[in-house]
Amino acid sequence: MATITVAGTGYVGLVSGACLADFGNIVICVDNNESKIETLKAGGIPIYEPGLDDVVRRNIVSGRLSFSTDMAQAVKKSDVIFIAVGTPPADDGSADLKYVEAVAREVARSVNGYKVIVDKSTVPVGTGKKVALWISDELSKRNDGLAAFGFDVVSNPEFLREGSAVQDFMHPDRVVIGAENEKARSLMKDVYRSLYLNETPYIETNIETAEMIKYASNAFLAVKITYINEIANLCEKVGADVQDVAKAMGRDGRIGGKFLHPGPGYGGSCFPKDTQAMARIGRDAGENLSIIEATISANDRQKERMISKIENGLGGNGSLKGKTLAILGLAFKPNTDDMREAPALTIIEGLVSRGAQIRACDPAAIKEASWRLESIAKSIEYFDDEYDALRGSDALVLMTEWNQYRNLDLSRVKSLLKIPVFFDLRNVYKRDDVEGKGFVYFAVGK
Ligand code: NAD
Repeated sequence: MATITVAGTGYVGLVSGACLADFGNIVICVDNNESKIETLKAGGIPIYEPGLDDVVRRNIVSGRLSFSTDMAQAVKKSDVIFIAVGTPPADDGSADLKYVEAVAREVARSVNGYKVIVDKSTVPVGTGKKVALWISDELSKRNDGLAAFGFDVVSNPEFLREGSAVQDFMHPDRVVIGAENEKARSLMKDVYRSLYLNETPYIETNIETAEMIKYASNAFLAVKITYINEIANLCEKVGADVQDVAKAMGRDGRIGGKFLHPGPGYGGSCFPKDTQAMARIGRDAGENLSIIEATISANDRQKERMISKIENGLGGNGSLKGKTLAILGLAFKPNTDDMREAPALTIIEGLVSRGAQIRACDPAAIKEASWRLESIAKSIEYFDDEYDALRGSDALVLMTEWNQYRNLDLSRVKSLLKIPVFFDLRNVYKRDDVEGKGFVYFAVGK
């Protein structure tokens, strides 16, 4: 058991903090966003993440989990400080480390003895060393002898997926710990004792290797998605069905069936920025990561392709002018309200720029979508109910495969649409079923 500060209470920090408390640790989640901390203190959860509210509540009740904006107090009480702040892309594609640096320096200004500072944010190789330098720099300014207690930096990248984050954190495929000495490693074993006892694979490396594992994993998954998207595009040209192709490929144990679902391109808060950052790391190191560079541009093309698919399906050039499209699903995937880099943003902007009006629907992401699409707000109406969005629209676009969109009443859908055209960008439906109801059906790669 350890006493822990988690700096940054977003998707990763809040889930990590709550789950680490569930493992028996004492956890203080700190954020500089006061309204977020107020919401949490009042028993609210600022993000949509299934199952998170239960874990948060039971650990508040047990006294193991608390929330604060006071980093200094939290750090003084803790042995281990997790950095879980954002690392968004800078203009040149590299990961912007300003939030990580701010936390590292703030921690150093508050330490009162030996601490382990754990980088959980996704950061480029070499960041662990930078964190150590930032901390040493602040300690040297203090002149109070505290530098003598020392500190260790650890890299512990996070692999949770939004939408199943609690389950992923509680039952990870592996825990990666990059550390330089046994003292830090043994404290990390205390932090993850519950998982360690459950025989979760525990991979110990140096800091640089741990940092690389995270980027290499995310970039590989982005490549896999992009690969099947390109195969899907080819399938459309040659009369093959990508779903059968993917199913058969996935049965090969060397390939595996996960991440072989074609669609409108990957999005979210991780793959786009992590592939960009990885490509940048390669360029800086003089190693051209050509597969990752190609993946980034292919993914951009995939989103554009969806816009053309819809335009062509409705009659070709100029056909979107004056048309109203019902868009079901906005988030980059189901079970999250996260709209960062969601393909829906680019696709909706493209459709609107070609003259379409949008009637959009999403169970959780409307609030996040509406401010991101503020500049074209006049062209978009939002609905909580999918059938309200469909009423009077010309055609249906299924953008995100939330469960409630997987089993639509197709007769009702047809009666609400002006023309029965269905663009299924997630291949949820069977062509025969949809065409049997009188729709013109477009999917991806079949
Ligand atoms: P987020 O934007 O949801 O949360 C970051 C939080 O940090 C915000 O609440 C912000 O207010 C807070 N913050 C910023 N500066 C701070 C400071 N100085 N002191 C205290 N709090 C501060 O980000 P996220 O999605 O949780 O991602 C965090 C990191 O984890 C990123 O590096 C990301 O790449 C990585 N990651 C994310 C996921 C995911 O699915 N979201 C998965 C694995 C890894």
